[in-house]
Amino acid sequence: MTKSNNIDTKVIHSGELIPRILGAVTMPIFQSSTYEYESQINYHSIKYLRLNNTPNHEVLNKKIAALENGESALVSGSGMAAISSTLLAFLKNGDHLLTQSCLYGGTHGLLTQDLSHLGISFDFIDGNEPDSWKAKIKPTTKIIYVESISNPTLDVPNLEAIVQFAKSNQLISIIDNTFASPVNFRPLEIGFDLAIHSCTKYLNGHSDIVAGAVIGKTKHIEAITHKLNHFGGALDAHACFLLHRGIKTLAIRVRHQNQSALKIAKFLQGHPGILNVKYPGLETNPQFSRTKKIFDGFGGMLAFQVKGGAEAAIRLIEKVKIPVHAPSLGGVESLITRPWNTIHANMSSDERVRMGIADDLIRLSVGLESADDLIEDLSQALG
Ligand SMILES: *Cc1c(COP(=O)(O)O)cnc(C)c1O
Repeated sequence: MTKSNNIDTKVIHSGELIPRILGAVTMPIFQSSTYEYESQINYHSIKYLRLNNTPNHEVLNKKIAALENGESALVSGSGMAAISSTLLAFLKNGDHLLTQSCLYGGTHGLLTQDLSHLGISFDFIDGNEPDSWKAKIKPTTKIIYVESISNPTLDVPNLEAIVQFAKSNQLISIIDNTFASPVNFRPLEIGFDLAIHSCTKYLNGHSDIVAGAVIGKTKHIEAITHKLNHFGGALDAHACFLLHRGIKTLAIRVRHQNQSALKIAKFLQGHPGILNVKYPGLETNPQFSRTKKIFDGFGGMLAFQVKGGAEAAIRLIEKVKIPVHAPSLGGVESLITRPWNTIHANMSSDERVRMGIADDLIRLSVGLESADDLIEDLSQALG
């Protein structure tokens, strides 16, 4: 069963231990921090919970690698643990990286506040303007880093051009694939070196843990594992169990969310109270045909602006009854936020404006509720 290349089968069966442990159909939780010595001679191979090599880690790593057709994967204590360990595995003092200008707030903070203190510099690129990238490259540039769908502006950079550019300039290409999920896009298939997830979001899907993962070639994942081992960002065994359980319904959840988000995006686009809707699956979206070529679906996230500015946006968020007013995304329940004062609040107003985050931008993470109920709710809140 594990040989199928169908993601619906892989989420359930890939990575599972055969024979099953004492016949248990579900992978048990190994609640043990340390394991009997087995004549290991390498620090990183000693069996210990922080060293990311317990049975729960290993099964999960195999499953996640299979979802994106990677050689190896590594789960971590959060998405930020995956991002920071990955970047620090390949960047040292004096190095430089290129990154798209609109980034998840935590990643933006890591680059601007932490990596800069370690002597690692960066330049922003416009993900849609490949001709402008060459001028930003330096002899010390090592990495190009993008997000498959940017948070919160829902832009899809020119991903095929990023891969080509990385290959012709010997850069490591890294993509945060959280918003797309492996159901809609598998970056390694088009040539990315490493794909990262905040598993907190779609992979777990139930808004009850934080976790991360990185997928890629075994030699890269091994280097990142050694960093994570030293930094101490291991995922706890209970959280491994919950993530493992959540992944089993990933395909069915994301397909439902794809359908609902498209329906809601179309409803909003046709509503007189709406200024604009950002969703890569709308045919009017400038990135639609490029995205359709390499994605299997457009995801459950959308952003929109209402007429009437920030006040109208705040009013709408207060009036909706089904979506919960909370940051984060990818769970079974719809979540609604204004990124201006939540996820991206640590930036200056100028930075937010440069990234395209207006104070009246509303972000909606579409859950598994009935799309008709969500549309009716948005309709009453707009009316
Ligand atoms: C949430 C998120 C992260 C950070 O993940 P955590 O699990 O909260 O550490 C990184 N990238 C994107 C796109 C996210 O949405």
